[in-house]
Amino acid sequence: MQISTKKEKPTVLIVDDMTTNLLILSDLLKDEYQIKIAKNGQKALDIVHSSDEVDIILLDIMMPDIDGYEVCRQLKSNPKTKKLPIIIVTAKDNDEDEEYGLNLGAIDYITKPFNKAIVRLRIRNHLELKLKSDLLEELSMYDGLTHIPNRRFFDQVFQSTYKEVKRENKSLAVLMIDIDFFKLYNDNYGHGKGDEALKKVAQSLQMTLKRPTDLVARYGGEEFVVLLKDISEENVKKIALNLLQSIRELQISHEYSKVEQIITISIGVAYKTASSLINKVELLICADEALYDVKRTSRNSYHIISV
Ligand code: GH3
Ligand code: MG
Ligand code: MG
Repeated sequence: MQISTKKEKPTVLIVDDMTTNLLILSDLLKDEYQIKIAKNGQKALDIVHSSDEVDIILLDIMMPDIDGYEVCRQLKSNPKTKKLPIIIVTAKDNDEDEEYGLNLGAIDYITKPFNKAIVRLRIRNHLELKLKSDLLEELSMYDGLTHIPNRRFFDQVFQSTYKEVKRENKSLAVLMIDIDFFKLYNDNYGHGKGDEALKKVAQSLQMTLKRPTDLVARYGGEEFVVLLKDISEENVKKIALNLLQSIRELQISHEYSKVEQIITISIGVAYKTASSLINKVELLICADEALYDVKRTSRNSYHIISV
């Protein structure tokens, strides 16, 4: 998984029941933005829900059927669309209406007739803020050193994946992965070399996983976690062996390791069969126990607990 890069021209959705207003605004913005237009509230909602292209909405209030307030209310109450910035553009110019609109979650309120240059600048400013907050949100999900998903990312995916596999009676495997004798590596080769090794291990784990739904994240320190859904126990074992092999193949010299003269990992696997009712906390505990077992008895290998 990579951090996404934004398309060049952001998309502005203009919602107004008056054709002249649509024309004025799209004319004003078409050089800088991709424009989508909706002549009523329902059309606006349909456009937003049918693609994730819209970056900001200019929303009229007074429209027949679903008015702008209702569009705003619906978009703000849906987790998928609640972060979409909405600028109300309306002829209603009293304070109560403005307060009402901002209270519904609109980010700004512009009254008609408007000054074109100011409208353009406000849109530009809000889009810049939105881009920055999106980027921060994305960065907070990735590990700064290895650039793979972090624990927060894992926790979120684990939550939703667990729900899905429970609902659909699918299997799920959690693999806790820990580098062997890594403290000795750091103590003897230094923290910089340690960081380099962590990056290589992360990359190698990621390269070894093939399916788009497979997830590897840095769980913390020298620990990683892998999530595999809808998979047979046999295939989980094969993947565990592949992961062990891929790290050995890196041939990162570690002469202080008590396993081999190279960096190796140990893997604890918790495997939830399709019909199992184990809850998600217990599943993580099982993976930890499996890792503890393997550390106690035979590093550079895996232990699987099937539940
Ligand atoms: P074991 O085989 O039992 O797992 O032993 P270990 O030494 O790998 O485990 P321990 O938990 O004692 O030590 C983990 C070490 O990982 C401690 C620290 O030196 C190193 N470490 C954790 N996070 C980082 C990091 O971000 N960068 C570097 N360079 N080292 C790290
Ligand atoms: Mg550890
Ligand atoms: Mg370790």
